[in-house]
Amino acid sequence: MTSRTRFGRGRDGSSQRRSAADQSRRGPDLTALSERVSAARADTEARGETFYQGPSKVHLAAFPPKERWDDWTELDSRAWPAREEHRYMLVPTTCFNCESACGLLAYVDRDSLRVRKFEGNPEHPGSRGRNCAKGPATINQVTDPDRILYPLRRAGARGAGGWERISWDQALDVLAGRIRAAITGHRQNQIMVHIGRPGEDGFTERVLASWGVDGHNSHTNVCSSGGRTGYQFWMGADRPSPDHANAKVIYLISAHLEAGHYFNPHAQRITAARANGAKVIVLDTRLSNTATHADHWLSPVPGSEAAINLAVARHLIETGRYDREFVRRWWNWAEYLQACHPGKPATFDTFEAILSGMYTAFTFEFAAAESGIDAGVLAEVAEIVAGAGTRFSAHVWRSAAAGNLGGWQVPRTLFLISALLGAVATPGGVFPNGLNKFVPRPIHVPPHPEVWQDLTWPLEYPLAQNEMSFLLPHFLAEGRGRLDTYFMRVYNPVWTNPDGLSWMEVLTDEAKIGCSVALTPTWNESAYFADYVLPMGHASERHDTHSYEQYDGQWIGFRQPVLRAARERLGEQITDTRQVNPGEVWEENEFWIELSWRIDPDGALGIRQYHESVARPGQKLTVDEYYGWMFDNSVPGLPERAAADGLTPLRWMRRYGAFEITSGQGPVYEQQVPAAELENVHITPAGRVYTSAPAPLSLNVVPTGAPDPDSAGRRAAGVDVDGTVRRGFPTPSGRLEFYSSTLAAWGWPEHALPGYIRSHVHPANLAPDQMVLLSTFRLPTQIHTRSANAKWLDELAHTNPVWVHPTDAARLGIARTGDLLRVETDIGYFVAKAWITEGIRPGVVACSHHMGRWRLTTESRGVGGMMATVDLRHGDDGWTMERRAAVAPYKSADPDSQRIWWSDTGVHQNLTFPVHPDPISGMHCWHQAVRVRPPSPADRHGDIAVDTARARTIYQDWLRLTRPAGPESPGAMRRPRWLMRPLKPAAHTYRVPEKEPT
Ligand code: SF4
Repeated sequence: MTSRTRFGRGRDGSSQRRSAADQSRRGPDLTALSERVSAARADTEARGETFYQGPSKVHLAAFPPKERWDDWTELDSRAWPAREEHRYMLVPTTCFNCESACGLLAYVDRDSLRVRKFEGNPEHPGSRGRNCAKGPATINQVTDPDRILYPLRRAGARGAGGWERISWDQALDVLAGRIRAAITGHRQNQIMVHIGRPGEDGFTERVLASWGVDGHNSHTNVCSSGGRTGYQFWMGADRPSPDHANAKVIYLISAHLEAGHYFNPHAQRITAARANGAKVIVLDTRLSNTATHADHWLSPVPGSEAAINLAVARHLIETGRYDREFVRRWWNWAEYLQACHPGKPATFDTFEAILSGMYTAFTFEFAAAESGIDAGVLAEVAEIVAGAGTRFSAHVWRSAAAGNLGGWQVPRTLFLISALLGAVATPGGVFPNGLNKFVPRPIHVPPHPEVWQDLTWPLEYPLAQNEMSFLLPHFLAEGRGRLDTYFMRVYNPVWTNPDGLSWMEVLTDEAKIGCSVALTPTWNESAYFADYVLPMGHASERHDTHSYEQYDGQWIGFRQPVLRAARERLGEQITDTRQVNPGEVWEENEFWIELSWRIDPDGALGIRQYHESVARPGQKLTVDEYYGWMFDNSVPGLPERAAADGLTPLRWMRRYGAFEITSGQGPVYEQQVPAAELENVHITPAGRVYTSAPAPLSLNVVPTGAPDPDSAGRRAAGVDVDGTVRRGFPTPSGRLEFYSSTLAAWGWPEHALPGYIRSHVHPANLAPDQMVLLSTFRLPTQIHTRSANAKWLDELAHTNPVWVHPTDAARLGIARTGDLLRVETDIGYFVAKAWITEGIRPGVVACSHHMGRWRLTTESRGVGGMMATVDLRHGDDGWTMERRAAVAPYKSADPDSQRIWWSDTGVHQNLTFPVHPDPISGMHCWHQAVRVRPPSPADRHGDIAVDTARARTIYQDWLRLTRPAGPESPGAMRRPRWLMRPLKPAAHTYRVPEKEPT
């Protein structure tokens, strides 16, 4: 071989490889490198500039140093071997492709002022310069030839595929008129904003509060509320913040290294801990990428995870390897004794004696029988956990908590282990999210709305962690209400939710939804049925702030339109983000402010005041003032940090994108409450401390539990621990609530302690020919509904075969991977391809929920690389969907669209799932009992059949499991006030109405 080789041209390849191999063995020539660095330093300093060891022309470094972000030079990789330089401005923003909000750096070409690529932002404390594949793929979303660039209005029937371009003014005037009429007509509950990925902290809730509307709806009850509920009842904070990096043992019930909550920021810290010797235990029925990296992978029978947790907890209790002093000081055992054992001495010894017998039934053998995991393996894992001490980090999110009836007991039993070990807010332990998240107080804080929305917070679910969003079609069909104006914001309910065809039935019914609006950058299955489609920006085209609990520290990140920031650096003044975005793509902040002004043009409704400038009274609030005020006044340490760099706080955030407010928070619950905050104190027998002193102003308005005042109106200020008033936890008792008085008082005393609820897919609940379908898992390179317009991601992952164990495949007559199978649910079926693998437990099948995107034959618009074209029919027997055309190469402004080599884009399984609302948490329980069969001769890949009448029956079956609130509920309230709500209405609205609303 003498011609071209992988190492060079026109040379002898073998000697070239030898030379490279020799060099590789020797390592880099450090002397030469050092000399080059010294020379470069001398040159730079001779010019009076500061020297940085950046990658360009000197040597390899991880990231461009921030001091050179104004003018950064890189070679064009496509021009190789020519050395073609590009000069960039590096502008930070944050990724919007999952909830982690990792930092991104946009490489803005200084000549063309176009974004050329996105890489990680090394200044971001959560992601530390790293991203998953979905971060850099933001460039695909920005340059997507199929994206929506202009406001559109439906022309013709809903869903018929007719659209006309309109101006923003036309859209705003129509929507403002409708909303104003609903508000002035006392029809506030006919306005709803339904949020998919929030991607921000509090802006939308604030807008709705300013309108006096309880119209916030979320996707959380199809996502994470099962996980949140278990933590909420323990500690008054609905999310755990595990300090993975410092853990000795990491216990995960989810696929954290690839797709779990908070994916990349957690994955990099778990990886660091493993390098330091931490043991990783993973419970996942499916062999996830995370499971492949575990020291112990347990593949349990779905729904048995809480039984395993309790077996581990029992082992800690029986062997006395729990932190006795932590339990004594911080558990609400006294309240438990008072409520459940009033005749016994109220001492810790009494409690310990009871505790020692409480979980004896959860032997390893019992857990083995439930989970199918060998008892010896469980004993081995329990021993590892027992050895972790306070360096035990654990996390469950979605996964088992989102799959099963009673799934909320999975986090509750998991946190029982943490609470036994005393691994709460310790290095390597688990923090309440409130300690590691920072939500700054905004410039205007509107009052709580004076109305209660029964369509999202119905009486049947008084303890629901979040809005009963996925039941909305059934509530509308039952006539519980009507929506005049319904916004779908970063949300695709037809595709994301279970029972999507019931959604379609109400979305196409103008008597139920008068006007629907899709705020979206790309086409989706729900936008096709909207009346207005309004294009909102991607991650680099909009403003947001956010903060997430990813380690023991608090940070705030700033998403921004990067071209706006770049052009402002060059001296331009941008007053409207549409001036820099493609087409007429806008951003939500400016849209909501403008819409609010048009709803209340003269200020008579009292709405406009919350969207007015403080600096320029009577004028519209700008995003610069909104965020400038926030960074000036509500983010501790930022003004000083910015001043040290000679910048205003806003300019500093525009330049660097994220700020770490604090780190090393430690156990804040242990802090002594200062005497100045204690006045007219009342201490209950269980130690809860109330005071008349006003609460100190907190700049951090992160939502947590909010304990009710006492009967004298004093606020809960702390908890008496051995004679000292400490901050404690935001629970009713102020302690960690092993015993939940809330669950007991609201009709569920049998579940007031951490326990095990047998799932709706427990083997005892399955017919002999049924299997369990796991439908909740994510693929690492896709997100639910918004990544389909990222071509790199589509090439990596575009289908969702059904995982089947070889023994099941043999039993079912499925010969090969790729053969079709039919999966029958309670309301219909879908036809998919099989993937025969030992990576799934026998008796269980699994299918990722990311795939099966579609557009109707009537619709020419869509996402070319991922949406199959389908026929959807509604007949006497229900709905059927058949594939008319698979994806194929097509012409567009992007030549890559002609290089699409795949045609299989999977199947939309969620359409075939009925709703399964957990009667306590409100979580949709995703797992399905299914029958898997060979296909019938007429079956084709992607076929779907659904009976929505049957879906209605199953909804009613699950509704009967509830124990509704009523006049006899504590305080005659609809819901405990201390539980969180994203948007809390006024206190009086919590009272159960005398007559149920019609
Ligand atoms: S984990 Fe990936 S998708 Fe999520 S925010 Fe980070 S880079 Fe984006």
